[in-house]
Amino acid sequence: MTHKTPTPDTLDRLAAVVGGKHAIRNTAEMDGYMREWRQIWVGRSPMVLRPGSTGEVSRILAIANETGTAIVPQSGNTGLCGGQTPTDDGHEVLLSLDRMTRIIDVDANDNTITVEAGATLKSVQDAAAAKDRLFPLSLASEGSCRIGGNLSTNAGGLNVIAYGNTRDLCLGLEVVLADGRVWNGLKRLRKDNTGYDLRNLFIGAEGTLGIITAAVMKLYPRPKSHETAFIAVPSPQAAVDLLSLMKELSGNRVVAFEIIADFALEITIRHAGARHPLASSSPWYVLAELADPVRGAMEALLESALEKGLVTDAAVAQSDSQRAAFWSCRELISESQKPEGGSIKHDISVPVSRVPAFLEQADAAVSQLIPGSRFVSFGHMGDGNIHYNVSQPPGMDKTAFLDSWNAMNDVVFDVVAKLGGSISAEHGIGRLKAYRMPKIKSAVELGMMRDLKRMLDPNGILNPGRVLPE
Ligand code: FAD
Repeated sequence: MTHKTPTPDTLDRLAAVVGGKHAIRNTAEMDGYMREWRQIWVGRSPMVLRPGSTGEVSRILAIANETGTAIVPQSGNTGLCGGQTPTDDGHEVLLSLDRMTRIIDVDANDNTITVEAGATLKSVQDAAAAKDRLFPLSLASEGSCRIGGNLSTNAGGLNVIAYGNTRDLCLGLEVVLADGRVWNGLKRLRKDNTGYDLRNLFIGAEGTLGIITAAVMKLYPRPKSHETAFIAVPSPQAAVDLLSLMKELSGNRVVAFEIIADFALEITIRHAGARHPLASSSPWYVLAELADPVRGAMEALLESALEKGLVTDAAVAQSDSQRAAFWSCRELISESQKPEGGSIKHDISVPVSRVPAFLEQADAAVSQLIPGSRFVSFGHMGDGNIHYNVSQPPGMDKTAFLDSWNAMNDVVFDVVAKLGGSISAEHGIGRLKAYRMPKIKSAVELGMMRDLKRMLDPNGILNPGRVLPE
């Protein structure tokens, strides 16, 4: 059964589950749920449901499953792939987790935090910090994104090099299945070898297999000190070698290792008021951070790197404000691209050792496609994850440049495939890249994914068309 336009009777039954106040039908009130912040994905829906409990989510899905009503789960609405906003045909009902925000439990001995799916990432970090623990997931959207969305996209962010992706931070889940059954898998176990790992099916599934309503996440001791350096390196290969050296000499205390192209730094200075942390320019920079290092460890290892020719200049932050200034050079890049005209973005990963080859080959391929393109390459080099953003040539018509979005994706993704990489490192597939799945997955892999979808959601009501093309 494919999903149908919900009848007035179905909408009334769904609204009765949450109560009139939490079933929004007024277009103006629904607006914030219908569009994401860049206005790229804008949709329509007959109703927004805001359940307050797992029981209510369960009753909603049971009705939706019976009536063939498509449901789009939404947490913080910061996703970048069109997964959390409805299509514009007005058939899909939006289910927001924004009332399910409870921090259920923080256990400093088990090093766990149990939360409802609508808790914002920031509130989870703060609740952990209040018990002197670290919840290490950190994204620029952390004030708005919610843990259900982080899990459903398997979000990455700044500290993956040390603590892993959201998947690695999760111990247990509670999930409502398409037919309304509730799976309570809220375990705190570090070891549990009892058969198939169901939890991992729902992580990164972008709401296509079930709705996550609560989770148990891992906590860590809070680092007592950091050493942060802004480093000039002659090439991406030098950055790869520097990363190996840093891991080795620091005793694996590297918690961030971001690469920044000179042009990316230049535009943050030009448009966002960032200050150059070094006296002169270099083709590439690395922003690196050690947690709880032996005092002076950063300076010692930079000296060693200087001797090896891996580093040409560096500044080590002497205060919290200098550390924040270094980080702002990284965090302001995306917004600094806007005044440079059109920009075509890619969130790719390759094995760390192949980042230099990726940058060289992708730059060559894109330059051939659109001569004069400018490369705003930056990102989580320590994870092999580059935000490969291309700004239009100066003077080119913006619309003409953006019209080549798919053609540019094609040439970049060809390089990614050749190097054994992934076309989505951390943002997911959503509607944006679903059509590419048959190209990037083998028939066996795609077949297993479709079988799982059919088994867990036989009526296709959960986020149709996301991840798997219809
Ligand atoms: P939403 O946008 O609401 O949803 C995302 C997807 O998950 C959708 O498909 C939705 O249907 C599904 N979903 C949501 N909640 C549930 C649920 N409870 N159960 C089942 N499915 C659900 N991402 C990174 O990985 N790393 C970054 O560094 C990063 N930086 C960002 C910076 C900015 C400024 C912005 C705007 C975004 C950034 N993102 C980043 C992308 C985004 O913040 C992440 O994908 C985040 O994890 C999405 O969480 P959310 O709560 O906003 O989810």
